[in-house]
Amino acid sequence: MHDLNFPRVSLGFFPTPLIELANLGAALGGARILMKRDDQTGLALGGNKTRKLEYILGDALAQGCDTIITAGAEQSNHCRQTAAAAAKLKLECHLILGGTEPASARGNLLLDRLLGCHIHWAGDHRKGEDIPQLFEQLQSAGKHPYIVPYGGSNELGAIAFAAATRELLAQSGDEPFTHLVFASSSGGTHAGLMLGKFICDQAYRLIGVNIDKGEADDPAFDQHILSLANRTAALLEIEHRFSNEDLILNSDYLGAGYGVVGALEREAISLTARTEGILLDPVYTGRAMGGLIDMIRKGAIGDNDKILFWHTGGAPALFAYASELIPEDRGEH
Ligand SMILES: *Cc1c(COP(=O)(O)O)cnc(C)c1O
Repeated sequence: MHDLNFPRVSLGFFPTPLIELANLGAALGGARILMKRDDQTGLALGGNKTRKLEYILGDALAQGCDTIITAGAEQSNHCRQTAAAAAKLKLECHLILGGTEPASARGNLLLDRLLGCHIHWAGDHRKGEDIPQLFEQLQSAGKHPYIVPYGGSNELGAIAFAAATRELLAQSGDEPFTHLVFASSSGGTHAGLMLGKFICDQAYRLIGVNIDKGEADDPAFDQHILSLANRTAALLEIEHRFSNEDLILNSDYLGAGYGVVGALEREAISLTARTEGILLDPVYTGRAMGGLIDMIRKGAIGDNDKILFWHTGGAPALFAYASELIPEDRGEH
């Protein structure tokens, strides 16, 4: 067993529940689907970033920092959970959000405001391009700032998801999963789950559903995930190095791009809500579940499989997407 004991602060309720989605499985012709409920981590409406922040902010405290900087989109779940964690730990928090200030604060942005952080609007820069500048500014004002990278996706964030794999397997009994499906966007969850699969000696297909098309000049996302997985392995003194054949990144479901809700997301969100009473989110888990439903319908994932869908959170964004989720009232109740 590899030592995952890095400085860590407690921010959520773990282990998160593992449940079976019998009704959804039946609606899809008998597929066996389980769900890991990281939407229930408990930190200001929860989500996968809570796990990463336990390690990342553990490091910030160990370094004696007093101010946190991070960045994301206007409806960033990562920023909302970071603001909540900073409040709890009595750290000043600065969020750099993409876009311009909207007329009214909805969804995650409303929660950011309630959580009492400083918000900086960055136009097209929704991935933290302006972080270094703010860092210097805060430093010259006498603060000790700490940068939480975009999406919390660094080695410490990945370690959190290697540890989460152990948490899952301790809950799930002897019959192994054949597939593990989740939304992959800034890479930390994906890299961590790759490491967890290796450390725990599992054979399931680990399928990241790609969420963000990225810009044309971005380095390839798959290489970014591999590099993060390998840097994290090195930090853990694991000799194994991952290569392209260890990585499954399914980019079939990008639709019209990041944060744009289409028929795929609408159907997945409403089917999961109506069969299980569980809320997915418009940007990440709606798209990933839409991908899983399509793979099941196409027969790519079959009846004899045991599928784990990792619910990574995000439902607060539903409240900012009303018109996209219910474009017209068709009288279906
Ligand atoms: C951030 C996020 C993801 C993606 O996790 P990454 O580690 O950034 O790839 C998935 N789902 C939700 C709800 C998220 O907020």
